[in-house]
Amino acid sequence: MAQKTVQNTTRKARDLLLRRRAELLAEARGEKAELEEISGQAVRDIVELAAESEQLSALGARRSAHRAELQAIESALQRIRQGRYGICCECGAAIDPRRLAVAPDTLTCISCAQSRG
Ligand SMILES: [Zn+2]
Repeated sequence: MAQKTVQNTTRKARDLLLRRRAELLAEARGEKAELEEISGQAVRDIVELAAESEQLSALGARRSAHRAELQAIESALQRIRQGRYGICCECGAAIDPRRLAVAPDTLTCISCAQSRG
């Protein structure tokens, strides 16, 4: 892969990652507000209590998925800063730029990802 292509791919990925990170941070703020709203509500009966705990666990699952994604994004941004972006962390081969375009926070090349299942 030509050096210029690598730079382009990395720059595009960085833009995508930064935008996604901003989205996630905004969502995290929304989720926090939602959480406060749910837990601030006065519960009248057992049906409401069940609904509330369901809401809370769905919200909790969403929050932890977002946290995991944020972590992946942070580490991708770190690899960009260190000049290691786009290199498979398992076999050291260059990751296909088309793969990076759809999953900019990916850590492995397609063959490592497949062999891992
Ligand atoms: Zn690999």
